[in-house]
Amino acid sequence: MALTGIEIFKLLPKTNCGECGVPTCLAFAMALAAGKAELSKCPHVSEEAKAKLSEAAAPPILPVTIGAGESALKIGGETVMFRHEKRFENQPGIAILISDGMADAEVDARLKKAKEMTYERVGLTLSSNLVALKAESGDAARFAALAGKANAGDANIILMSDNPDVLAAGLKACAGKKPLLYAATKDNADAVAALAKENGCAVAAKAAGPEELATLTEKLAAAGLKNVVIDSGARTPRQALEDQIVIRSAALTKKFRPFGYPTIVFPCEMTDNPMKEAMLAAMFVSKYAAIIVLSDFQGESLFPLLVARLNIYTDPQRPLASKQGIYEINNPTENSPLMVTSNFSLTYFIVSGEIENSKVPSYLYVKDTEGLSVMTSWAAGKFSSDIIGPSVLKSGIVDKVKHRKLIIPGYIAAESGGLEEEMPGWEIIVGPRDAANLPAFLKTWKP
Ligand code: SF4
Repeated sequence: MALTGIEIFKLLPKTNCGECGVPTCLAFAMALAAGKAELSKCPHVSEEAKAKLSEAAAPPILPVTIGAGESALKIGGETVMFRHEKRFENQPGIAILISDGMADAEVDARLKKAKEMTYERVGLTLSSNLVALKAESGDAARFAALAGKANAGDANIILMSDNPDVLAAGLKACAGKKPLLYAATKDNADAVAALAKENGCAVAAKAAGPEELATLTEKLAAAGLKNVVIDSGARTPRQALEDQIVIRSAALTKKFRPFGYPTIVFPCEMTDNPMKEAMLAAMFVSKYAAIIVLSDFQGESLFPLLVARLNIYTDPQRPLASKQGIYEINNPTENSPLMVTSNFSLTYFIVSGEIENSKVPSYLYVKDTEGLSVMTSWAAGKFSSDIIGPSVLKSGIVDKVKHRKLIIPGYIAAESGGLEEEMPGWEIIVGPRDAANLPAFLKTWKP
């Protein structure tokens, strides 16, 4: 039974030192009770209290790590039903299915896709995270050979078989990668749990419904396993979605421990239509899968899915931001145009991309607007003439250009007069509203 905030408060030191990041022990206790803080943040709590608080201190959905080293995938640790309440913590892993029944060429092609299908966006590299190796041949040696091949790549691994002996053979070939063992069921739980424990791997619990699932996860917890992922067994979109919501809600709002683990879903087993599969995967990105297994990767569906994942898992309280500074694009000279924009990452990458496309050597000064876009920062008073002007003058750009002309975004045309006052001797030119019009606009540039 979870402790209330007051019960937790009674066990804390009550010194209100603030080292946990909140001003008082009471506030920290309330955050702990709501699953929004970790006990480890308080360095002064006694061992005795720690033991008593372990139940309340554990996050409602345990964080789970799959893999080893820097590319290990961390999932779970979620604390809210809706992103706007705080944020979603750990992006779901996207996996490609590879069967040991496939021809070698197909296996190689899929491993290549897992490795090479990466995309640059807003300065980040977007990629899938896992290969899901399925034992369909029933031949342990063949499955081990497949696991050995995957072991040579960078992707994290899911080993899929209901047969503990086949799982063990696959695991032997890639034990250093700490794969996820899929799956412990009511029939093989003891053997698969022992395998996971021995090798320090995460294990998936698969059941035919919520009751069976709860019993199974309790059994794994009793065996000392915390790195657990759950599969409700649903293979119709409607049932799978319902299960995701019920599991998340039970774990967060009812603090129902047997469901307090990240989930795995299989859109690859819900449809044969690749477009429908991609749409189901996108649905599970928002509600609430931690691992999504796809039948294959196609650029036209993988890229939008990775972007959807990025958008949904971006902290709404912290927009992606670029660094303030002067960016040189297409090797500018002292006669090149100078533009200014905000430091919202998407703004920066769209504007700099269009300048790059124009092939016109240019300077772009990116002003720190706390990650807000041009219009939003302007409306919030963070991108006005009295802020932009002094910042441009102090940036060092005056030593780089001979002219004294500054191009501002069309959306803040109203600031041009104020900027001329802030920057005496400078000509303020109002640029286009949309970055897409920059290439044509820059062609008209005269220093
Ligand atoms: Fe209280 Fe511990 Fe936070 Fe200090 S660090 S305010 S003692 S909960």
